[in-house]
Amino acid sequence: MEEEILDSNSKNNNIKELDKKTCTGCMACKNVCHKKAIIIKENNEGFKYPEIDENLCINCGLCKKVCPVLTKLQENENEIKVYSCKNKNEEVRMKSSSGGIFTLIAKYIIENNGVVFGARFNELLEVVHDYIENIDDIGLFRGSKYVQSYIGDSYKKVREFLNNNKKVLFTGTPCQVEGLLTYLGKDYDNLYTQDFVCHGVPSPKVWRKYLEYKKYDGSYPININFRRKDILGWSNYQVSYKYSNKEENNHHDNDPYMKIFLKNLSLRMSCFNCKFKKIKRKSDITVADFWGINNVKPEMNDETGISALLVNSKKGLEIFENIKEDMIFEEANIEDIIKYNSCISKSTNYNEKREEFFKDLETISFEKLIDKYL
Ligand SMILES: Cc1cc2nc3c(=O)[nH]c(=O)nc-3n(C[C@H](O)[C@H](O)[C@H](O)COP(=O)(O)OP(=O)(O)OC[C@H]3O[C@@H](n4cnc5c(N)ncnc54)[C@H](O)[C@@H]3O)c2cc1C
Repeated sequence: MEEEILDSNSKNNNIKELDKKTCTGCMACKNVCHKKAIIIKENNEGFKYPEIDENLCINCGLCKKVCPVLTKLQENENEIKVYSCKNKNEEVRMKSSSGGIFTLIAKYIIENNGVVFGARFNELLEVVHDYIENIDDIGLFRGSKYVQSYIGDSYKKVREFLNNNKKVLFTGTPCQVEGLLTYLGKDYDNLYTQDFVCHGVPSPKVWRKYLEYKKYDGSYPININFRRKDILGWSNYQVSYKYSNKEENNHHDNDPYMKIFLKNLSLRMSCFNCKFKKIKRKSDITVADFWGINNVKPEMNDETGISALLVNSKKGLEIFENIKEDMIFEEANIEDIIKYNSCISKSTNYNEKREEFFKDLETISFEKLIDKYL
């Protein structure tokens, strides 16, 4: 893997001058630092950023070298294949956000004695990266969680598995996948990566405060589904909050948390200037919602979810060949995906009220935030 350090004239050989506006919080620097000189701190918006402990830093330059923002990976020059597709298993499809393709990919890797990394809720309903080795656990990662996930030491664990000759599937946002690749610094035949078309990642602090607001009878929800399809279908997905003694379902257009997310009020600053949103990706395979399907192949849409799939590499093709028996699929045009899903290659627009929103988050109640911004 060819690498080029962009800012090689800087006197600091660490990530100290990395602009807070561009740091994605991928944690590659934290994972690589042997001196434990990188401390992760949450800023007042609730996003995690690295800080250097100058007493421990030996200026070795490793953190700068693995930063996917400061380091440029070689472009992907492969021809990309594009499909509209869905998992043949309707039950799985209904539980997934789009066409249930992630489940097929994860199953293929685990059946080949592999391990799968992805994002799940922990017991505090925070979103964290973790790994699984059993097919029965795929449900932990299934479904989109619209909160930035915490990578922790996942990249280190990925490398350990790779060095032990395990097949590894790493799934995450485009910036998390590129963070892993720059961290590893070389190609591994046994590594497979899957990213998705990403609108941007919302603040864990906004999520925490929202959960406080959503408490019912003093208790947090016991289950949350951001993409419930069985009430009004895939396009009219509902956000579902399950409590021990009641259930609440909101159309996404009426759900305060989703409205804040989709108005770009709660996103990380780096999402407004994201270099990882592009057609030719470094991941092996990219999944997304095929939002324009009704204009392209309406006969495929039964409102249980359709994915757009981008096969970006030889390994992506290997995955595709091995899961295609379990999918209904057709070749598609990339233009038809871009037209209805601009986040594939374009950053989301900055909302001028974002700064004020985060200031208010500190001082006013969630009810008042909703009144003011929605
Ligand atoms: C924050 C976010 C923004 C998104 N924005 C768009 C968009 O603009 N356009 C679009 O078409 N699709 C977007 N998606 C992706 C889409 O919602 C589906 O996840 C994707 O199409 C895969 O669907 P699936 O049915 O194959 O599998 P699913 O089972 O729904 O997918 C689960 C996969 O998503 C991963 N995942 C879930 N939450 C997170 C998280 N917080 N961080 C990292 N990985 C996570 C899991 O690890 C697993 O790999 C977004 C997803 C997230 C999490």
